[in-house]
Amino acid sequence: MKTGKLLLFLFLIHSAFAQTRAGSNEIETIYPMAHDLYVDLHQNPELSAHETQTASKLASRLRNLGYEVTERVGGTGVVAVLKNGAGPVVMLRTELDALPVEEKTGLPYASKVHAKDDSGGDVPVMHACGHDLHMASLVGTAAILAHSKESWHGTLMLIGQPAEETISGAKKMIDDGLFTRFPKPSVGVALHVGNDLPAGQVGITPGVYNTNADSLRITIYGKGGHGAAPNATIDPIVIAAKTILALQTIVSREVRPGEMAVVTVGYIRAGTKNNIIPDQAELGLTVRTFKADVRKQILAAIPRITKAEALAGGAPKEPLIEHYESTDSVYNDPALAERLRAPLEAALGKQNVITEGPITPSEDYAIFVEQGVPSLYFSLGGADPQKYAETKEAGTMLPSNHSPYFAPDVDLALRAGIKAEVAVLRNLLNGASQ
Ligand SMILES: [Zn+2]
Ligand SMILES: [Zn+2]
Repeated sequence: MKTGKLLLFLFLIHSAFAQTRAGSNEIETIYPMAHDLYVDLHQNPELSAHETQTASKLASRLRNLGYEVTERVGGTGVVAVLKNGAGPVVMLRTELDALPVEEKTGLPYASKVHAKDDSGGDVPVMHACGHDLHMASLVGTAAILAHSKESWHGTLMLIGQPAEETISGAKKMIDDGLFTRFPKPSVGVALHVGNDLPAGQVGITPGVYNTNADSLRITIYGKGGHGAAPNATIDPIVIAAKTILALQTIVSREVRPGEMAVVTVGYIRAGTKNNIIPDQAELGLTVRTFKADVRKQILAAIPRITKAEALAGGAPKEPLIEHYESTDSVYNDPALAERLRAPLEAALGKQNVITEGPITPSEDYAIFVEQGVPSLYFSLGGADPQKYAETKEAGTMLPSNHSPYFAPDVDLALRAGIKAEVAVLRNLLNGASQ
């Protein structure tokens, strides 16, 4: 008996050791491929809804790994399915698009790409939101799971979603039959890299993960004329300036203190020359909220204030207010978040799985949740740990997503992303009980 117990003990030690080694080996085996893909994607970013090269790079790699791949789903979207016996259908999503930002990171592989935006203007393009890292992580994860089909069973559905930055790609994929032409997932997973956490860590937020987002375009009308004869005009720039300041009182004076609410005027367009008073001015707004009632309150206050300022300025007609984009906050299924904490802790270390409060950026991943796919959308640390510690000490912040200086610590963050995705997917795909 004693010998038997000793043998069993030695066997368990050996297999635990072998498993740990397999865990890091399987990452290292595919890491160079994932890293090369990252650099390639980073150097060749494409704007929202124009991600054709990006999509075909993803599609060809996934096809080579044995996935059944469909392209052009909802525009440039990619769907890759790997069936592996009976079990749940689990979805992992990445975005494909980059942003009209001029990269200033100084990295050897910094983007120098320029492209035409939808209005025909030449714009610089950069993966300033880290979607390149999400894609590389998804393909790395796809490779590991394709190479270890004994470790899971069910159907793995990987999606490359276009046009996340314009909050339109998720809906287009749904409208193009994402959940009717392909198996409907019983659960979904996505992550987002950022500098709010050091690379190597992930953050879980049970419940509301991010904000409701609403985009508005306001056109204020005036009466144009000579800059030297303002008395003969109605100046829409002055009305716009008063409107911008008045809009700032919604959050500071109308919304209950303590409620999350943001009203930002992100651009103002008016005029062509210093001595000409234009006949209209355009403002672009973004509104962010957590709660439905606060959202409603703000969306009602904006036209009230805008119309009143136009009236006060003697505008010849009411301003035009267009609510052209809207997305709901992403809701993380609390039970799912709790279930997936254990595999994340096992993969990354207990100290590297943080519980976070909701964040203010938005996402159209909510569309998938609203289609009845309970999900976990989690944060992936991107910050160089040393720089993170230094900025925390100094009370400053590293460049955020969308900054021309946004540069995640790729080696640490990409490895952690792959480890986290593999751990979560194996957990979800290990039982037919889902
Ligand atoms: Zn973004
Ligand atoms: Zn993003």
